[in-house]
Amino acid sequence: MAKKPPQKVGKSAKPQVARPPKGSVPGLSAVDVRKGEELSRKLPGSGPPKVLESVPLTQAACLALRQRGVSVGFVPTMGALHEGHITLIQQARRLADVVVVSIFVNPTQFGPAEDFDNYPRDRDGDLMKCRSAGADLVFMPTAAAMYPDGFQTSVTPGPVAAGACGRYRPGHFGGVATIVLKLFQVCQPHIAVFGEKDWQQLAVVRRLVRDFNFPVEVVGVPTAREPDGLALSSRNRRLSPRDREQAPVLARAITRAQQAYAQGVVDAGALCRTVMDEVKTARGVKLQYVEIVDAESIQPLRSVDRPARVLVAAHLGNVRLIDNGALGG
Ligand code: AMP
Repeated sequence: MAKKPPQKVGKSAKPQVARPPKGSVPGLSAVDVRKGEELSRKLPGSGPPKVLESVPLTQAACLALRQRGVSVGFVPTMGALHEGHITLIQQARRLADVVVVSIFVNPTQFGPAEDFDNYPRDRDGDLMKCRSAGADLVFMPTAAAMYPDGFQTSVTPGPVAAGACGRYRPGHFGGVATIVLKLFQVCQPHIAVFGEKDWQQLAVVRRLVRDFNFPVEVVGVPTAREPDGLALSSRNRRLSPRDREQAPVLARAITRAQQAYAQGVVDAGALCRTVMDEVKTARGVKLQYVEIVDAESIQPLRSVDRPARVLVAAHLGNVRLIDNGALGG
């Protein structure tokens, strides 16, 4: 009987899935990859920042930068930019080769009764400010581009998002964590700069980055304030003149708590009462909450025995303001 020829294995077996062509990026069209690559070669550039609405083109450009070893500093914002945002952009400028700013009023972080529709918007002013602060690329997607039909996956942060603002804005930090994750995927930052003004948000983002192993360094920038102490906020422009006059009471109340702590008061209840007493001196300021929390985990403390934060939120008319300050650490 004749011997069977040995069966060919390995090389000649056809793979089930074709190898991606060299230079292609799964999920991006060849055109976007090419345009993104071309655009990335012009960054950092002089003159006005490039303004992009397209999600895939922005992603292609940022991926090309990352692949070339050009560091990307990223500043996510909701626009209506003020001096606080500017300090974030300037910090990103110092830390990275190319600065990307996103401007996107994220609908999923607003509750149904919140101010999404009234949130201030100022495209032209924002672009001018981005230019003078040194941004290279401004990413301004539409809501439909970020949340296309069929979108259904989101991030649910843990206990870090449960107290303080999380208690009064259910779903807010889930919306924040989800959009930050998406923006990180699109903008591919090495460094992401956030304000300490939104202390709990910063803690949620730091947790997100650790929990999901993002290769991103999160940098916090101290709160920029008006000369009278009021923390800068896009929402300040919606305050009535009378409420604007009363608004610095929040910063004053935080300072009172810090002074009491410096004099040896460590009991959280007593420190909260100091804040409440000060806020009561202002007319029309309705304190929503004051909490003394662990600075990193945002868990409530009975006593300030580790780095802590005093967090406050208040309503002035239909404007909600937040502020915070360090206790110890
Ligand atoms: P927003 O546009 O309010 O979403 O804020 C975008 C970024 O700017 C966030 O990281 C905020 O914490 C930060 N930010 C807002 N206000 C200030 C401020 N007064 N000082 C420093 N950072 C701020």
